[in-house]
Amino acid sequence: MAIQLTGIGVSRGIAIGRAHVLQRGELEVIEYGITRDQVDEEIQRFRAALQVARGQLRAIRNRIPPDTRADIVEFIDTHLLMLEDSTLTAAPEQIIRDHLCNAEWALKLQRDALVRVFEEMDDPYLRTRRDDVDHVVNRIQRILLQADGDADGSQAFVGAILLADDLTPADTVLMQHQGILAFVTDFGGPLSHTAIVARSLHIPAVVGVHNGRRYIRDGERIIVDGRRGVILVDTDEAIRDQYAALQKRERRRQAQLARLRNQPAVTRDAVPVALQANIELPDDVDDVLRVQAHGVGLYRTEFLYMNRNDTPDEEEQFQCYAGIVERLGGLPLTIRTLDLGADKQPQASGETPVCSNPALGLRAIRLCLHDPALFLPQIRAILRASALGPVRLMLPMLSSAPELSRTFALIQEARRGLARDGMAFDPAMPVGGMIEVPAAALMADFFARQLDFLSLGTNDLIQYTLAIDRVDDEVNYLYDPLHPAVLRLVQDVIDAGRRAGTPVAMCGEMAGDPDYTRLLLGLGLREFSMEPSSLLEVKRIVKRSDTRRLREQVLPAVASGDPATIRGLFERLTSDVVR
Ligand code: PEP
Ligand code: MG
Repeated sequence: MAIQLTGIGVSRGIAIGRAHVLQRGELEVIEYGITRDQVDEEIQRFRAALQVARGQLRAIRNRIPPDTRADIVEFIDTHLLMLEDSTLTAAPEQIIRDHLCNAEWALKLQRDALVRVFEEMDDPYLRTRRDDVDHVVNRIQRILLQADGDADGSQAFVGAILLADDLTPADTVLMQHQGILAFVTDFGGPLSHTAIVARSLHIPAVVGVHNGRRYIRDGERIIVDGRRGVILVDTDEAIRDQYAALQKRERRRQAQLARLRNQPAVTRDAVPVALQANIELPDDVDDVLRVQAHGVGLYRTEFLYMNRNDTPDEEEQFQCYAGIVERLGGLPLTIRTLDLGADKQPQASGETPVCSNPALGLRAIRLCLHDPALFLPQIRAILRASALGPVRLMLPMLSSAPELSRTFALIQEARRGLARDGMAFDPAMPVGGMIEVPAAALMADFFARQLDFLSLGTNDLIQYTLAIDRVDDEVNYLYDPLHPAVLRLVQDVIDAGRRAGTPVAMCGEMAGDPDYTRLLLGLGLREFSMEPSSLLEVKRIVKRSDTRRLREQVLPAVASGDPATIRGLFERLTSDVVR
């Protein structure tokens, strides 16, 4: 009888293959005493194990295909660096000397001390970094204990789906090379480096399937659905055929989409559409370039302020922005100023202020204007980056005219200061604003006249228009981009931009959801910014659309204000696009 196991799907894709169950088991590390005379010998044994571990990791590194993303190679380099770090080299030696114990035990004591430090951290991302310590320590322990395993990734597992308790980034990086189709682990989470590597190498993966290996025998045929986080065991032929068909369709679709990378995003009636990307971290630029986006339409800078205990200063910010400008090689970069507050709290802010409704509180531009000492260095850093390439500054959550005039005054102050300090900047750097508060959408004419460009932040615009907390599961069902009020506001903003000659983009999730592409083209949107992974799918739909026809269908439906009419049209528009 078929069984279904569930975990967290961290890397999409379907794999059908035979299970290869890795029973590496828990390493049993026991303590035994040594005499003073044996200390040197024990330290030599420990050093030799470190040397073997370095050799294994270097062997893995040498086999990484040359076109692998730089940050993936960096994960292996991080582990190599840890093997040189005194906390894992000198400290265990000292423990051997002080405690007169064996190397394995000394290493375990040191590992426990390091892990305790990580566990005290509140931040879930940093907590996952303890995995790095465990992965490196485990590698050394296996060598000391002469436990087997595929230590240097040299074994081939062609057509296998790997099942393990946990896997390291080093295990994962060579999987394609080894012919592994997918992997399933007992532990792990979506933020782990292993998950990141799996996603960027497009290896379907499900993690956190506790006890998964209890129900799956070595060699058994299984199906992994990395999107839904599901593993199917002991399925009949009909289900396997169904998944094989799905897999084929997905592969065909991906291959077709890849061909669109260097094709222009132009509709059937010859209207060009700008497709830009949203990024959160500098390394996301690789994805922007891979899909050949027209630049970055939203860089969420708040991620530079999160996961740390201090605030980045002007110089650090400048270096970060300058690095992105350089990697974009002439493509525009839209840097959004800090949108902290609500669900995005920096660690450095100390105690979170008591606030009954953070989404309506001191957030984004309000927080920045409240604290110019926080805002000014960022404005200066963005201005300095504008001397190096096409940079635009974008203000989040605008709602009123005074916010704009106070921000302009600060930008002016930053320009004067930089000129005084002899620092270069582009005096004509465009300044735009996000339209994500209904008040700003209703006053879009005003904002369009004041700013160089607008960008619709539909995630918040929908939240504030429909009074639904976007992170509250209980009211999520009310979150509706098709609500006539939302569509009218979107249309009004696009029209206001056109009247003022100010470009209007959209950078909320709606812009990257292919189901809405035609509706938005019909409303007159010509600039979309989205997760890079959605861009080619959206481009495919753009190329199959006719804006004139869409306009004729969409405008009357939205004007009717009738939810049923709008939904009916939406369904026709999406069913037209054969996926
Ligand atoms: C939005 O609100 O649509 C948006 C893009 O900003 P964020 O999701 O970062 O709030
Ligand atoms: Mg927003």
